[in-house]
Amino acid sequence: MADFKVTVLDPTTDFAKLKYWDVVIIGAGPSGLAASLTTAHRGLTTLVVEAKSEPGGQPQFLYADKKIVDIPGFPDGITGHELSERTFRQATDALVQFRFEEELIENQDTEQKEREDPLKKVVTSKGEYLCRKVIIACGLLHYPRKLPVLDALEWKKVHYKVPRINDYHGDHVLIVRGGDSALDAAVMALQRNARVDVIVREEAAVGKADTVGRVEQLGGRVRTSAEVVGASLQDGHLVTSLTDGTELTSELAIVQIGFLSAKETFERLAIRLNEDGSITIDPYFETSRHGIFAVGDVHGDIKLVTVAWAEGIQAAIYAFKEITSPYWLNEKRLHDYKLVMIGEKMTDAASAHSGRGK
Ligand SMILES: Cc1cc2nc3c(=O)[nH]c(=O)nc-3n(C[C@H](O)[C@H](O)[C@H](O)COP(=O)(O)OP(=O)(O)OC[C@H]3O[C@@H](n4cnc5c(N)ncnc54)[C@H](O)[C@@H]3O)c2cc1C
Repeated sequence: MADFKVTVLDPTTDFAKLKYWDVVIIGAGPSGLAASLTTAHRGLTTLVVEAKSEPGGQPQFLYADKKIVDIPGFPDGITGHELSERTFRQATDALVQFRFEEELIENQDTEQKEREDPLKKVVTSKGEYLCRKVIIACGLLHYPRKLPVLDALEWKKVHYKVPRINDYHGDHVLIVRGGDSALDAAVMALQRNARVDVIVREEAAVGKADTVGRVEQLGGRVRTSAEVVGASLQDGHLVTSLTDGTELTSELAIVQIGFLSAKETFERLAIRLNEDGSITIDPYFETSRHGIFAVGDVHGDIKLVTVAWAEGIQAAIYAFKEITSPYWLNEKRLHDYKLVMIGEKMTDAASAHSGRGK
């Protein structure tokens, strides 16, 4: 039982019959999950749309096994996976609803209103959702770049993130690209008894020199000025051919060739963006479109789980206040505006006064 007043959503609610959602949140990473449980804890019907098949965002997809050590209250650290699993459980316990493998396409305005509040239509790759408020929490970098020649095989042993820790029993692991994350994956696999080939397009691996040295010291082979140009599956093994004609047979491939940025998604949303492509927000986390908030890595400089949580929670509370007291944000803005005007008048008066004294 929580110590603060949680308005429990009715567990018998038939979410399929809702005419509209109070809040639709895009992204089930740290900021989206924190926002979702905050709105649900205030009795708002909340839907989270997530492009991937699982919740968690970067901690789950990019560093599931890493111990995060900078989260207050976890002196021994907590893995990205456990953190994601716990936060997701908290959200589902609060009756947040989730749609996975569904991607935001755009947000449309509608003519429909609910208590003076114009409803929005969130259009996704699989459907449309009417809602009162939208919180964009989709991070900045999401989709690992795919390597078409390997992706076309649809083989489940082509990994675009470092797979779970394993003993490779002398298996041959193919690693594509020589950046830091690819080299770290090579070291990890070599330490677990794999034979490793790192395929680097450039003349030298671009990752840290000492990691390159470590890969070679552990028996890994770094093949520079080489690209994978052909691939096939033979007897359950991956056979790849390289630009120099070499053929390699592997039991697993790890591809680490960077990420696609979310910029394209942002551009479709018709909201104001900063020069660096991130989303512009006001002090209440609202974007240039009324009723659409943005939190977490989608804006700002400090990219941390705790910051993403804090922003998700704040935006959720602002959204709640707007829903329960529609003029609240406008009044706050008027108040801010008056303070700025008073500040400007005081500065003008001070400079006029100091000018007189000269
Ligand atoms: C290697 C690495 C290590 C890190 N280590 C730490 C650390 O030790 N401590 C720390 O505090 N922070 C760390 N961070 C940073 C931290 O992970 C991020 O700041 C945090 O995950 C941001 O959360 P978010 O919810 O804003 O975005 P994300 O975690 O990126 O989550 C966004 C979610 O939105 C989904 N999504 C994207 N586009 C769409 C779409 N169009 N439709 C639907 N869903 C979509 C994505 O699939 C994703 O699940 C690390 C980051 C990296 C890359």
